[in-house]
Amino acid sequence: MKKIVVTGGSGFIGSNLVDFLIKKKFFVINLDKLTYSSNKYKNSLRNAKNYKLIKVDIINKKKIINIIKKYKPLAIFNLAAETHVDRSIDSPYNFIHTNINGTFSLLEALRFLKKKKIFPKLIHISTDEVYGDIKKEKRSKENDKYDPSSPYSASKASSDHLVKSYIRTYGLKAVISNCCNNYGPYQFPEKLIPKMISNIFNNKELPIYAKGKNSREWIHVEDHCRALFALYLRGKNGESYNVGSGVNLKNIDLVKKIIKIFVSMRIKIGNKAKIKFVEDRPGHDLRYALDNKKIFRRLKWKPKIKFQNGLRDTIIWYLNNKNFLRKISTKNYNKRLGLKI
Ligand code: NAD
Repeated sequence: MKKIVVTGGSGFIGSNLVDFLIKKKFFVINLDKLTYSSNKYKNSLRNAKNYKLIKVDIINKKKIINIIKKYKPLAIFNLAAETHVDRSIDSPYNFIHTNINGTFSLLEALRFLKKKKIFPKLIHISTDEVYGDIKKEKRSKENDKYDPSSPYSASKASSDHLVKSYIRTYGLKAVISNCCNNYGPYQFPEKLIPKMISNIFNNKELPIYAKGKNSREWIHVEDHCRALFALYLRGKNGESYNVGSGVNLKNIDLVKKIIKIFVSMRIKIGNKAKIKFVEDRPGHDLRYALDNKKIFRRLKWKPKIKFQNGLRDTIIWYLNNKNFLRKISTKNYNKRLGLKI
């Protein structure tokens, strides 16, 4: 069986990518530190013949080298990261540790292995947030300058720069994806969509920062997984690819859509589950939007899932998997983080 390593394979996108790759008949080695945002989900797809979870911090270069030497994967998808902007405002340390120093250690491991003639292709997963706030009429192109606003996006931008420097300086085989906001199964409910769904289930307020005018571009996680696979197969070494859907929505409109879907499915919404405008996040970017022509034209990838259908399916998934939310409900994801000091 062909082998692939996924770092952060117990997180939201990682869990979906692991399943995607197993369905494609790969043996998947998941390297994950199992932080608060990871899930212990074990579905029927994963068995000893096609899946191995190894608890490890990507900063542990020695261990990473030994794992890659042992399994000799064709590719490494790097999704291990700290990902919540509000947490990065309260305590940036973990973001520097994993997103910058962790990526640096992984790159050092790959530099060492290249000398031993082991060179898996690195697919480094990044975000649209590295481009910073984007004016209404504009969409970010791959060559636009990075202008991150939060410790999270700055740490992701730094890791992208490190990857690019290792490609140029050491001839590492790598590509970078800059993707917009993902939604779908297995997302930790501190993020907007699962938070709203979970709060409706639990008859809690639906908090929206400021007046909800911030606009984000949304893609279904399965479409992102297909894009990452296209990058693995056909992505040109050294290149970055924006992975965007073209679907932008203001936060307030998105939350209204979620409520509408609940109503259309005749699911009772409790009297406390109402929109509540709350204090804004410091440094909150108003809009992200990607120009996705490059990946459309060069890799022949296009998103398949219509937002309305994907959102409805996501709500149904959380309804059918209330256990997923129950298991993490002790992790206090409802506490407001990232306020001004
Ligand atoms: P997530 O927070 O759900 O999962 C991150 C995973 O990484 C967790 O399982 C965690 O345990 C693991 N991890 C954290 N630190 C680690 C370390 N030091 N060593 C090993 N594992 C570690 O995040 P996600 O939403 O799945 O995001 C995955 C990647 O995709 C990130 O790089 C993120 O920046 C990027 N991204 C996410 C989105 C989105 O909308 N979710 C959009 C664009 C890009």
